[in-house]
Amino acid sequence: YAQCANRVQVIKSLNAYIRVTDEVSQVQLQESTTRYLKGTTRLMEGIPIAIKDNFCTKNITTTCASKMLENFVPTYNATVVERLLDSGAILMGKTNLDEFGMGSGTTESIFGPTKNIWGSNLISKANDIDNKVSGSQSDDFFIAGGSSGGSAVAVAAGSCSVALGSDTGGSVRNPASYCGVVGFKPSYGSISRYGLIPLVNSMDVPGILARTIGDCRSVFEVIKGCDPKDSTTLQRTLNKSKTKRSSSKFDKLCVGIPKEFYCPGLSSEVIDAWKDVADLLENSGFRVIQVSLPHTSYSIACYSVLNPCEVASNMARYDGLRYGYRATGKDLNSTESLYAANRSHALNQIVRGRILAGNYFLLKENYDKYFVQALKLRRLIYDDYVKMWSTGVDILLTPVTLSDAPLFSEFTEKDSRAQSADQDYCTQPANMAGIPALSLPVRLSKRNLPLSLQLMAPHFDDETLLDVAHLLE
Ligand code: GLN
Repeated sequence: YAQCANRVQVIKSLNAYIRVTDEVSQVQLQESTTRYLKGTTRLMEGIPIAIKDNFCTKNITTTCASKMLENFVPTYNATVVERLLDSGAILMGKTNLDEFGMGSGTTESIFGPTKNIWGSNLISKANDIDNKVSGSQSDDFFIAGGSSGGSAVAVAAGSCSVALGSDTGGSVRNPASYCGVVGFKPSYGSISRYGLIPLVNSMDVPGILARTIGDCRSVFEVIKGCDPKDSTTLQRTLNKSKTKRSSSKFDKLCVGIPKEFYCPGLSSEVIDAWKDVADLLENSGFRVIQVSLPHTSYSIACYSVLNPCEVASNMARYDGLRYGYRATGKDLNSTESLYAANRSHALNQIVRGRILAGNYFLLKENYDKYFVQALKLRRLIYDDYVKMWSTGVDILLTPVTLSDAPLFSEFTEKDSRAQSADQDYCTQPANMAGIPALSLPVRLSKRNLPLSLQLMAPHFDDETLLDVAHLLE
């Protein structure tokens, strides 16, 4: 704990934390110490964790990095938070994100962007990285990825052992990939969303950022499982791992390489890493075959209709009357003008843009043309996976991001829609299909930044996914 608390201070300039919860951690630490002395420790006793600031934490401000919730103090814990704290974890703080989770860089937060620790002067190799980035401004930096960038940097920097993020279109896997940590999005329905402030209810999944698969697995054990407060969590238990690791023998599975993930913009370094890991699996006895998921390239378009539709519905609660930012002024003399002022002052352009787009797609005359079409497309994407798994494939190996972490200046040149289209190409399909997916660091790029690959498995085969990931670690 003391080491992590020290790291929290050392990495302040990276802006990974929105709020550091010293006082809470001190109390928890005391309880952990007492339990340790009594020999009554719990599963996560004394383990420092960080939580993305879109999970409700009782009596601790939960902002979603938005002015709208700047002063919002929940009266309850999200189920995942409750389960972690009940098992003895120590909360180091709440981490930065793109406002309401809308983004892929952690560049769109009212608290300012989070900087990647890689390439910063906080790691020893930093100076030579800075020198290698030709033409970079001295105040430029590598982005952390997003929207769970704060959690990824918090883990990568050693300020906590594990952190929670949320993944709607890649928000756990993308920053994990750029920051060189494990990022796990479990099967939809395996983890409760109660107390996770919603972005897209049908795709949101709480995810885990950790340094090792082992750590990731321990947290998953603690937080997974049915929750009466979230009707989309399933009663059933997860499938047993397909690999029986008895007597250190690892049953070899079939790994699919989906050709549609060989997409425009993929850097040669990622392609090389992808090939090398596929070879490695083949050489260690896995059956590696090419597979096809024909509707993959439609998933960005499909997501960009479904996301705003659910956003429009979810954001309707932020009217500034019941809670949230409330504008003041003499001219606010009607409910409508008050709503308008609250929202235009307290939500960023991306959020407002999605609310507008969603309401447009949901207009009576547009509903069938956009929303229903997008739902049908989502089903086709889902069916691609069902068909592909039925041919005997156990695991997919794909890229997760197109390259290593971009510089802030490169990334913010593009508008937010173009950013998502690039950044989320390989990650969104797993959210459409509800399947478990994991980002695993595999090597360093020429710029000395982490390069990662993605593994995916059939719905509820999370255990198999973790086992294969562990083998590649
Ligand atoms: N980049 C995507 C978006 O902006 C995904 C975000 C997420 O997974 N929370 O919506």
